[in-house]
Amino acid sequence: MGGGHNGLVAAFYLARAGLRTLVLERRPIVGGACVTEEFAPGFRASPGAYVLSNLRPAIWRDMRLRERGLRVSPAGPSLNLFADGRSFVLHNTDAETVREIAAFSAADARAFPAFKQEMADIGGLLLPTIDHAPGPLRAGLRAARRRRAAERAVELLATSARRYLDARFESEHVKAALGWDAISNTLAGPSEAGTALALVHEHAADPSGAVPWGFVAGGMGEVTRMLADAAREEGAEIRPGAEVERILVDGGRARGVELAGGGAEQARVVVSNADPKRTFLRLCEPGQLPAGFARAIRAYRCEGASLKINLALSGLPAVAGSAAPNGAHRGLIQVTLPLAEMDRHQQDARRGIPAIDPHLEVCFPTVHDPSLAPEGRHVATVGARSQPYRLAGGSWDELRDPVADRVVEQLGHHFPDLPGMVIDREVLSPLDLERRLALTGGHHLHGDMLPDQLFLLRPVRGAAGYRSPVRGLYLCGAGTHPGGGVTGANGRNCARVVVRDLRRPRVRGSAGA
Ligand SMILES: Cc1cc2nc3c(=O)[nH]c(=O)nc-3n(C[C@H](O)[C@H](O)[C@H](O)COP(=O)(O)OP(=O)(O)OC[C@H]3O[C@@H](n4cnc5c(N)ncnc54)[C@H](O)[C@@H]3O)c2cc1C
Repeated sequence: MGGGHNGLVAAFYLARAGLRTLVLERRPIVGGACVTEEFAPGFRASPGAYVLSNLRPAIWRDMRLRERGLRVSPAGPSLNLFADGRSFVLHNTDAETVREIAAFSAADARAFPAFKQEMADIGGLLLPTIDHAPGPLRAGLRAARRRRAAERAVELLATSARRYLDARFESEHVKAALGWDAISNTLAGPSEAGTALALVHEHAADPSGAVPWGFVAGGMGEVTRMLADAAREEGAEIRPGAEVERILVDGGRARGVELAGGGAEQARVVVSNADPKRTFLRLCEPGQLPAGFARAIRAYRCEGASLKINLALSGLPAVAGSAAPNGAHRGLIQVTLPLAEMDRHQQDARRGIPAIDPHLEVCFPTVHDPSLAPEGRHVATVGARSQPYRLAGGSWDELRDPVADRVVEQLGHHFPDLPGMVIDREVLSPLDLERRLALTGGHHLHGDMLPDQLFLLRPVRGAAGYRSPVRGLYLCGAGTHPGGGVTGANGRNCARVVVRDLRRPRVRGSAGA
């Protein structure tokens, strides 16, 4: 149920295991939040994911993505632009970044290599967990005993991004440039416990170096187009335009699905790529779930925090000032602010007030692949943080355009030509993401990725291994371990669990069943 990238990956492995597999996707195209669509005449971009950073090596290999022609153009250095006119580049090499930091603080420049080492150590502990169902706690503890990084990992899971960075750096500019990712996909502020974990996502690269990260030629939709081709070649049937209205459950066990246009499909197993709230609270009947489980899913945090804008531009806008390095447009540009201000914006957002002049992430995919726009023209993709799904006043249908206008004005401070270059645009509030991509609450990752919703707790304790309390109903999307992002790990891990269960005498439910 659902042809997002994880649904397609799961379908591939299920079909490869010899199971008759049918993918039902509500949209006319597959790919979920990983697609390429025309948003203005001749301009193409994704309403969702725009960079590929962690698609698992096993999927590259098994689904033969290189042979199919998947090409990733590496992202350039990451330019951070501050309201006070200063800028800061996180280079792809640490030596260059240290030189950059020295302009803000000599002590911070000295501290940076130890910080990177710490991130690499913790990454070495956490990253291998991605490719497996969340393991028994004792396996994690065994690994932790072997590694000195374990203490650091515990600190990182428990503390806030702000405290973690305060303990290591003094410059507010440096801390902002290292810590902005803490607010990317949550309404929590960088001072809230657990947000330090985001630092690992941002700064702990896969030590094997086997995972290409950057901009995909043809846009992110090429990834899912090729995943769908691979699944079909293994024998899976993929049916776009087929929305599931209800999961059929009888005697505590999934029996198939009922389709929105009428009709039903019977199945031994139903694998849902939809987010946990949609799967259990909208598509299952309330009485079919244990009450405690349903309450836990209701309490699962899944409200989006960003406004996405795709801009069709008549040219490539220059960065204000001379400090911007060559190649700045090739990376992810952060229009950023001190962590204390991010805290204030997130507090506003939690009260339903969209932040004004929030943190922005900007990129220009056409610098990597000019075919995404008419000749000489460009696409800018902008993510504006601290934008709540639930508003204190008004609706996103009223606020969408005024908020987007303000973001374009804000961009104009750093790219003075940009406002005059806008030919057309697509604005997606959290509500629009929910309507278009079926992301409940407009959450990019099917739910916050803070420690209380990760590993054995994703989506909720007792249902973290892709199984659910309904026997034969599994989850394979970003709301499962290891969380969101275009990794394919969820789909692959889930398929392995399903195949294992089917080889046992009967389909098992989860411990919570
Ligand atoms: C704006 C935005 C920016 C992002 N940027 C990045 C990025 O740059 N890099 C990155 O790695 N990740 C990024 N992400 C996150 C990433 O896109 C997602 O975590 C990932 O695509 C989720 O994949 P999935 O297959 O688990 O779920 P989804 O892509 O959400 O797929 C679920 C599928 O299920 C379908 N579905 C739902 N309900 C039904 C139903 N009732 N019947 C039939 N089908 C149904 C949906 O239509 C959808 O196709 C971004 C996300 C968003 C929204």
